[in-house]
Amino acid sequence: MFKLPQEIKNIFEVFKKHDFEIYLVGGAVRDFLLGKTPTNFDFTTNALPAQIQKLFPESFYNNNYGTVSIPLKSDAIVEITPFRKESDYQDYRHPEKIEWAKTLEEDLSRRDFTINTIAYDGKKIIDPFKGQDDLKNKIIKTVGDPDKRFSEDALRLIRAIRFASQLGFLIEEKTRQSIEKNSELITKISWERIRDEFLKILKSDHPSEGVLFLRNTKLLKYILPELDICFAIPQKSPKRHHIYDVGTHLVMSLKYCPSKDEITRFATLIHDIGKAQTFKKDEKTGLITFYNHEVIGKKLAEKIADRFKLSNKQKEKLVRLVQYHQFTVSEIQTDKAIRRFIRQVGKEYLQDILDLRVGDRVGSGAKPTSWRFELFKKRLIEVQKQPFKITDLKINGNEIMKILNIKPGPKVGQVLKKLFDDVVNKKIENKKEVLIKEVKRLGNI
Ligand code: ATP
Ligand code: MG
Repeated sequence: MFKLPQEIKNIFEVFKKHDFEIYLVGGAVRDFLLGKTPTNFDFTTNALPAQIQKLFPESFYNNNYGTVSIPLKSDAIVEITPFRKESDYQDYRHPEKIEWAKTLEEDLSRRDFTINTIAYDGKKIIDPFKGQDDLKNKIIKTVGDPDKRFSEDALRLIRAIRFASQLGFLIEEKTRQSIEKNSELITKISWERIRDEFLKILKSDHPSEGVLFLRNTKLLKYILPELDICFAIPQKSPKRHHIYDVGTHLVMSLKYCPSKDEITRFATLIHDIGKAQTFKKDEKTGLITFYNHEVIGKKLAEKIADRFKLSNKQKEKLVRLVQYHQFTVSEIQTDKAIRRFIRQVGKEYLQDILDLRVGDRVGSGAKPTSWRFELFKKRLIEVQKQPFKITDLKINGNEIMKILNIKPGPKVGQVLKKLFDDVVNKKIENKKEVLIKEVKRLGNI
């Protein structure tokens, strides 16, 4: 029924040849039913890890999850987990030890949401919890009593929202109420696991809806309290055209940020987070200001990155984008100012900070761009064609010594400096033949 890749068909055949039950479950079945092509294939079976490994000698076994992974020639990831059952949950977390179940039904019943309990045996669908109905109606609903399921493993609280954001689904009302009721349990979960789900929400097709779900279910209070308080910070004041409170502005900025990168999206979501601490309202004029909010914002971004256990690289990017998000876009800026901006942000993050700005603009009710912004982007490119430092010159000290037939000494540095200034001031081009000519001319005077 599903159009399976040959390598996946082979897996079905090997298990069946050895009289084992084998079912495709989880994301792949969901994707097939939604008309998408999965790249991630989770199977469940009555074979035990040692038996699976015998069938597939190239596979490897992860003890913690009871999962055997099979490397394929294509990029597809195949993970096979024997039928598992509910075991004792302690501390609202994943059980420490794994127990095997006898039947498919038992395995499906321990899964989190109905849309994740649909199994496929290679020929037909097995759907004891009516996952297909919820898939059709675009609904996330726990298998069984939500309070019980969320207290077994509190990561499911945020997984519900992750699936809603990825699929564009709604959360069934009883399930939603239960998330709100149990939201505090999320504090029992490790930040690594929260981070993985949170970044998936940011990377999804509906990241801003995801953040609003987090807020409405009170999870945001525990995950990103710095953002949660921003919804109480107004910014409408005379002569300023802000239309939203700070929190809503941040969510709208995320919504309209054109980047698909989760860290750029994260930075867009928190770029004004320093405003809660820097809010000031002049009683006479009614004017609201947030002086130096980007300085506070930078510190908060560092704290948030550490809490979420982001990698050093991810942290650097998040902090850099928040710290410099206030950059000036003006036609009277000097090239020097633009060069400083590029140095501060870093060439590799330029497109990201421009994307943040587009989100920021649209999230404030403005158009995505303006002639000034377009001019600024052109100048960013132009300025980068010019050298930034002496070593960017298309000539070096050794070459100068050869041309002028001189020994190392201050003269070499003076010539380099003169060439650099002339290139920066556009008197000469940064091209080898032009520079050689200029060196010869300088040698003669
Ligand atoms: P995708 O891999 O596309 O993100 P998925 O549904 O395959 O989505 P995984 O996180 O890979 O999600 O989990 C695989 C399956 O394992 C899920 O479909 C679900 O049935 C089950 N599962 C995963 N985590 C939990 C959990 N915390 N509680 C209960 N069941 C879970
Ligand atoms: Mg999966």
